[in-house]
Amino acid sequence: MNQNNHVQYDDNNIFAKMLKGEIPYHKVFEDDKTLAFMDIMPQAKGHVLVIPKQKAIELADLEPEYAAAVLMTAKKVMQAQRQVFEREGIIQMQLNGSQAGQTVFHYHVHLIPSSIHELGRHAVTQADQGELADLAQQLAAVIAG
Ligand code: 5GP
Repeated sequence: MNQNNHVQYDDNNIFAKMLKGEIPYHKVFEDDKTLAFMDIMPQAKGHVLVIPKQKAIELADLEPEYAAAVLMTAKKVMQAQRQVFEREGIIQMQLNGSQAGQTVFHYHVHLIPSSIHELGRHAVTQADQGELADLAQQLAAVIAG
């Protein structure tokens, strides 16, 4: 039970399926507690999502060890985005509940190389798969050092 919207975690949500290896994605980074991959409908070029390997719908559900792990992965991704896109400004965003606009009910942090004044629309335009693969490879290479 989720304390905010009383919704049960759905084992078949799209990010759960990614964690189970059931659908493809463009991986940027993975460790034992987190996974980072390219957002398929980016709000700016280089938009990455970081998820915990915990069945958490939103912030209220996140266990401390996974909260820490997600932020450590987010730091790695942000530093790589700064290097690859040669910009300082990276938006960190996270939506809790459908009223806030959350559309996938597995907790995730958005990392978007953009400005709040230039941010594209949320989850509207699908990116080219080839470009996403290329960006993921560049970010992954920087993180791997
Ligand atoms: P939310 O609205 O829950 O904060 O964000 C969900 C995000 O997941 C959106 O930015 C959307 O573009 C992204 N997304 C939705 N479906 C998929 C998918 O199948 N693959 C990937 N990589 N991202 C997705």
